[in-house]
Amino acid sequence: MITIQGKGVSTGVALGPLYFYQRVKSTVTRYEVADTEAEWARFKAAQEKAIAELGELAEKARAEAGDEAAMLFETHQMMAEDLDYEESIQTAINDSKLNAEAAVSDTAAQFAEMFASMDDAYFQARAADVKDVSGRILGILTGAVAGGVDSPVPVILAADDLAPSETVQLDKSKILGFITEGGSGSSHTAILARTMGIPAIIGVGDALKPEMAGHEVIVDGSNGNILIDADEAARAKMLRKMEEQKKMQALLDELKGKPNVTKDGQSVRIYCNIGSPDDVAAVLKNDAGGVGLFRSEFLYLNCDDYPDEEYQFKAYKQALSDMGGREVVIRTLDIGADKQIGYFNLPNEENPALGNRALRICLNRPEIFHTQIRALYRASAFGKLSIMFPMVTSVWEVREAKKMCERVKKELTAEGIPFDNDVEVGIMIETPAAAIISDRLAKEVDFFSCGTNDLTQYTLACDRQNNDLGRFFNPHHPAVLRLLKMVCDNAHRNGIWVGICGELGADLALTETFLSIGIDELSVSPRSVLPLRQKVRETDVRVVREKVLADLMGDENNEI
Ligand code: PEP
Ligand code: MG
Repeated sequence: MITIQGKGVSTGVALGPLYFYQRVKSTVTRYEVADTEAEWARFKAAQEKAIAELGELAEKARAEAGDEAAMLFETHQMMAEDLDYEESIQTAINDSKLNAEAAVSDTAAQFAEMFASMDDAYFQARAADVKDVSGRILGILTGAVAGGVDSPVPVILAADDLAPSETVQLDKSKILGFITEGGSGSSHTAILARTMGIPAIIGVGDALKPEMAGHEVIVDGSNGNILIDADEAARAKMLRKMEEQKKMQALLDELKGKPNVTKDGQSVRIYCNIGSPDDVAAVLKNDAGGVGLFRSEFLYLNCDDYPDEEYQFKAYKQALSDMGGREVVIRTLDIGADKQIGYFNLPNEENPALGNRALRICLNRPEIFHTQIRALYRASAFGKLSIMFPMVTSVWEVREAKKMCERVKKELTAEGIPFDNDVEVGIMIETPAAAIISDRLAKEVDFFSCGTNDLTQYTLACDRQNNDLGRFFNPHHPAVLRLLKMVCDNAHRNGIWVGICGELGADLALTETFLSIGIDELSVSPRSVLPLRQKVRETDVRVVREKVLADLMGDENNEI
C-alpha cells in the first residue's frame, strides 16, 4: 500500500482505478509569414471560433454546476478578446512577421508569466486561465483534438493541473475524483470540483508515477489522503466512510424543500452567510431561505480604492435579484481589527479589536457611509433587502446610523430614484454592552442578529484571532449563552425578531438551546444548511426545553 498526502479541496471519499489525463498537445511550429494580413485574419477566425466554443461551454457549465461555474468561461471569453492580448498578437504578426500559432504561443507565455509574478493569489491563478484560452485558440489553429478520458469504467483522474475548460468538458459520469500535481485551493478547478461535489486533492507533486496507472486508488477529499493498492483494513475503513457519506448526503438531499420545523411545530428560518454575490448560487443549491449576513466589507477588501456607489449598487442588486425575492440582510462595512484595508489609512492601534472599527468608522467618516447607504437603498428596488449595522454599543449610534438612512431616502425621493420604503433596519448584537441594553436597543430597530464570534471574544475577553488561547475561547460558556437568552427575551418582549449569524449558529450541539430560547433565524455557511435542518426536524422543544434552560440558568454546571 502506498500512502500519499495532498491537500483536500473538495470533500468526499472515492475509490477507482487511477487514470492519467490524456492531453493532446498542439505542437507549435514557427515560421515567417509574407502576408501578415492573411495571418491576422487566420488568428481572428480562430479567436472567433474559440469565443463561440467558450459560449457553449458556459451554457453547459451553467446547466451542470450553476452560474458561478458558467462565469469562468465567460471570463475566458473576455480574455480571448482582451485588447492588450490581441494587440500583443497583432504586433508579433505585423512587426515580427510571426505565424499566428507562434504569436499566440509567445503572447500566452508572456501574459502567464506576468500573472504568475503578481503578489495577489487571485491574479496568480489567472496564469492558468490565459494558458487555457490560448491553448484553445492554438488547438483550433493547428487542428488538434481535445484530450479527455478514454476508459470504459469511471476513474480517479490524475493530471499535472486541470484547466477549467478541461474540467467542464470531461464526461462527469466517468470521473469519481480528481488528483492534481499542482493547483491551489482557490483555483477554478477546485471551485468547479466543489460545485460539482466531486472529491478533489491537489498539490501531490510528483508522488504519482506512470506505472501506477490502472491501480486501485482511494481519495479522501476531506483530509487530502490518497491510498494506492490499499490493504484490506484500510480499504474496509475507507469503504465504510464512503458509505456513511453517501447515506448522509442522500438523507440531506431529501430535506431540500422541507420546512425547518421541530417535531412540536416550532419553526426557525435557516439562512446563509455570504461574502459576495457569487456565493448566492451555493445558497440556492443548499435550499436556504435567505441570506442572513452579507459581509459587505469583502467588496471593499477586493478593491484598491474606495468602491463607488455604482460599483456597490451593482453588487447588491445582483445578490438581491439572484435571490429572487428571498430576504438578503446586508451588513454595512465592518472593517478594522483583523480586516485592515490600506486605502482607509487607519492609524495603528494598540488594541484594534477595541478600536476604530465597523460602525464607528462609518459614523466618523459619514461620506463613506453615505455612499454605501445610497447604494443599498438603490438596490432595494430589486429584491427584499434588510440593512444591519455591526459593532453597536449604544443607542445614540443606532439613531445616528438611522438618520443616514432617512437622509438617503429623502435624497432618492427628490431624485426620483426608486427604492423600497419598507427596508428593515437591524443591528448586530456582538458586544456585551449591546446585549445588556438590548431592551433599549429593541425599541430602535426591526431585528437583532447576534454575532457570536465577537460576542464571545468581548464577553470572555479572549482574542478570537489568537489560536493559543484554545480552551479559554469557549463560545459555549454560560456567560455567552445567557446573554443570548437575554437578547432573545428582550427582542420578543418588544415584538422584533432575533437571529444568530456567528459560527455558533451551525453548532449542532447548541441547536436545542437556540430553539429553546426561541431564536427566530440561524444564518450559517451554505454547506451547513441541510445538516442544521435535519437537527431542527429531529428536535422536540417540549421535551428538551426545561433541561436546556435549567442547564443554562442553573448553578449545576461546575465546568465554568
Ligand atoms: C460575528 O462577530 O459573529 C460575526 C458574524 O461577524 P464577523 O465574524 O464578520 O466579525
Ligand atoms: Mg463580528
